[in-house]
Amino acid sequence: MEGATSGRITPLHCTNPTVSTLTLALSKGRIFDETLPLLAAAGIVPLEDPETSRKLILATSMPDVAVVIVRASDVPTYVQYGAADLGVAGKDVLLEHGGTGLYQPLDLEIARCRMAVATKRGFDWAGTVQRGARIRVATKYVATAREHFAAKGMHVDLIKLYGSMELAPLCGLADAIVDLVSTGNTLKANDLVVVEDIMPISSRLIVSPAALKLKRDRVQPLLEALGRAVVAQRGRKS
Ligand code: AMP
Repeated sequence: MEGATSGRITPLHCTNPTVSTLTLALSKGRIFDETLPLLAAAGIVPLEDPETSRKLILATSMPDVAVVIVRASDVPTYVQYGAADLGVAGKDVLLEHGGTGLYQPLDLEIARCRMAVATKRGFDWAGTVQRGARIRVATKYVATAREHFAAKGMHVDLIKLYGSMELAPLCGLADAIVDLVSTGNTLKANDLVVVEDIMPISSRLIVSPAALKLKRDRVQPLLEALGRAVVAQRGRKS
């Protein structure tokens, strides 16, 4: 395994004293899948599939570029501390993280969806808001939800959840949820409806300030190649 010598784990950038590895933090699933074509356009192809491999550090077709597989909400932390040079994270995750110590040079325009408020079908959201009634909202996105409702002058009790938020209104845990909506199928299947749009969401490339400073000659061409790939992707989608 890269990064391991005689049982001791050494940081990835220490494995080869002459060539430092450029590391890119990605989460499995939608973000990994949709980042792949952009990376391929920049000449980077992971040599293993994280869905079938148990490895967390994947070599790529570029010998000095590695992909590290981390949980989506951990991507900004790895990059912030320079444990990964670059990463791909959803705007939803970046807003909750706060973005401290991160450059966000490029919207990759992938994993697009919207953040929205949803309730059970038939719940009188407008009336409840108008009456100024105290509303309970369950969400994983506490910081973003707090800011959204504060900007509207609404007092809400936020309940932090880590799993399926759609269940909360169905079990009476909350009146509403703040969640990501893509096709709308999950809401529909659970008899929930969007009552407010909060913002469009997509995934961004994030870069550690240390990498931008110390590995600029390698990071800059990658940023440019990914930028061109995003423009080409936009052309294909429109
Ligand atoms: P959908 O049924 O297509 O509207 O997808 C909704 C479910 O997928 C919800 O559980 C969301 O939290 C999740 N979801 C949708 N889009 C994204 C995204 N871009 N990133 C992460 N989770 C998402």
